[in-house]
Amino acid sequence: MQPKIQQTINFIRNYYQTEDFIPLHAPVFNGNEKAYLNECIDSTFVSSVGKFVDEFELKLAEYIGVKKAVVCVNGTNAIHLCLKLVGVEAMDEVITQPLTFIATTNAITYANAIPVFVDVDKDSMGLSPKSMLDFLKRNTEIKNKTCYNKNTGRRIKACLPMHTFGHACRIDEIKQICDDYHIELVEDAAEAMGSKYKGQHLGSFGKLGAISFNGNKIMTTGGGGVIVTNDEALAKQAKHISTQAKTPHTWEYHHDEIGYNYRMPNLNAALGLAQLEQLDQFLESKRQLAKEYKTFFETHNIKTFEERTDEQSNYWLNAVILESLEERNLFLKEMNAAGVMTRPIWQLMTRLTMFQDCPKTSLKNAEYLEERVVNIPSSVK
Ligand SMILES: *Cc1c(COP(=O)(O)O)cnc(C)c1O
Repeated sequence: MQPKIQQTINFIRNYYQTEDFIPLHAPVFNGNEKAYLNECIDSTFVSSVGKFVDEFELKLAEYIGVKKAVVCVNGTNAIHLCLKLVGVEAMDEVITQPLTFIATTNAITYANAIPVFVDVDKDSMGLSPKSMLDFLKRNTEIKNKTCYNKNTGRRIKACLPMHTFGHACRIDEIKQICDDYHIELVEDAAEAMGSKYKGQHLGSFGKLGAISFNGNKIMTTGGGGVIVTNDEALAKQAKHISTQAKTPHTWEYHHDEIGYNYRMPNLNAALGLAQLEQLDQFLESKRQLAKEYKTFFETHNIKTFEERTDEQSNYWLNAVILESLEERNLFLKEMNAAGVMTRPIWQLMTRLTMFQDCPKTSLKNAEYLEERVVNIPSSVK
């Protein structure tokens, strides 16, 4: 084994003080989780309405700095709803990045729309405004304040960038381009709970943003997600269509459009409320670990992925950038064999048969990162 890989294993084992298997990310329940869950069960309100849902939504909106938060069953359906809410319809195109977890792209297809893949920036791993603008300049025309792809004839209705591992993409520049081209901005901030750009919480730059509380994210509700927005009418509409589009009435069943059963149950919200109370501690622990990783890897000439100036990352998952595909494969093999979990960044969406024929630009940076980036254990200690 290469000495630097052995030393990496030793460093991580020493940090977590264990000889057992070390996962990439495990949740921590050190707060009011059990108390709130017991209270929730005792109340019998364990399903889609209840005081924990209301309180969790209020506290989330306050923490994130938005007017409204609408909690959902998971992050994927939160993104799906966001796309519906900004008016994405069948056969529309949605600009996104190929380097992401498949949920981003699946949500676009749930809305019967077609993803258009533009490149990412190497230093953010998120959608590149330069690549997007270049694509728009060459391939689109504006008619009646609507952007059309000249090659396909389809409307480009929305843009869905993703904040990779909790690091901010150049969201202010992307927002400007969206405004100039009459494209709606929805943020996939699934991985970015607690992350900020220029002091503003990620997910709150676009018209709507979605955050995930899956079991592996920085805080969890078991499964869950939230839609955040400053548009109160849209928030009301989000609640409505996540509740089977049922119009309020004490006993009548009436539904005014096709809705979904996407509401978060009270049980999950109880867990989430207890997790949110600990989020600042989680963030502190994550950022401390990132600092220790940086110092350690610097002495071994391995690059770590760092936040840019202007951003405050949650460092949800730490990442190293290795020299080549061969070096990456060796690192993955040896670390996993030693019981220290590591995982490569996602395969590009454009490689999957379902998405291989979608429109795309040159994906040079995404391909570079795909071959080199590896996530390393990042649980809160
Ligand atoms: C986790 C994640 C999602 C989806 O969240 P779920 O709650 O698991 O449905 C979406 N996008 C990205 C980038 C994610 O990492």
